[in-house]
Amino acid sequence: MLKKLLVVPVLIALLGLGALRHIQAQSAIVVTLNFEFLRQGTAGVVTLSGEGVVGGVINAFERIYPFFPVTGGFAAFLAVPMEQRIRDYPITVTVYRADGEPLTWEGTVRVASGEFIREPTFVLPSEKLHLLDMAVQESENARLNSIYSVVTPERFWEGQFSLPANAPTTSPFGSVRDFNDGSVRRHTGHDFRMAVGTPVKASASGRVVYARPLDIHGSNVIIDHGWGVFSNYSHLSQIFVVPGQIVLQGEVIGLSGNTGRSTGPHLHWEIAVNGVLINPMDFIRLKMPT
Ligand SMILES: [Zn+2]
Repeated sequence: MLKKLLVVPVLIALLGLGALRHIQAQSAIVVTLNFEFLRQGTAGVVTLSGEGVVGGVINAFERIYPFFPVTGGFAAFLAVPMEQRIRDYPITVTVYRADGEPLTWEGTVRVASGEFIREPTFVLPSEKLHLLDMAVQESENARLNSIYSVVTPERFWEGQFSLPANAPTTSPFGSVRDFNDGSVRRHTGHDFRMAVGTPVKASASGRVVYARPLDIHGSNVIIDHGWGVFSNYSHLSQIFVVPGQIVLQGEVIGLSGNTGRSTGPHLHWEIAVNGVLINPMDFIRLKMPT
């Protein structure tokens, strides 16, 4: 099945658009979408190879996704926002070459349903209801976006991402949440049921870029893994790391808690790729380029 998934995009590439044939005729540059479609709130890997290629960028979903060097070429994570509408989208790959003008490849990416659920109403205690104010929400979103939109060219991790804890899921990524004041929010991470004080582990190696409280996320740690990939561990009761610190995969970075806009002890775990929040459980299953 995997082989088929890999072959189909290649065939599309070879038989596809004029722009691609143009590239192929000149220098056998190959762009491969390593997926048949992408679900809302997930990321896929796009690879790029060819003689004289020194890099490239993808333009899609009104965003830019950079390529990074891997064995035999370059790879990029194409991340789809959870709110992206279900349909086909144009994708343009700009290929940079050591000698000659950049070339472009144009294709199509199909976005499929993220199959998000609607959860039972969340009941926030009265002393936390102010955390549903849009001003509070927007201020926190802006701060997180400014962190998540940084792209560190260095890659700090190897292999697959791992779970931050071995604990049952209480709430999946992307769910629609009604609160007791009538507010509706989307879930930006994945939640695990964890008693206050349970160790929380880094999903992959990286550099800590944030380690302090936020109104909604509570005490949280954000790790920059490089290549525009970040993980966030929220509602913690204790933080054991400081900004600038390098942490290794599996290292305990803090203890779970119930801080911020939380209705009970749990760990909220977020992953952002190129500034787009995606399903962490899907990302740890994604085969990483090497
Ligand atoms: Zn959560």
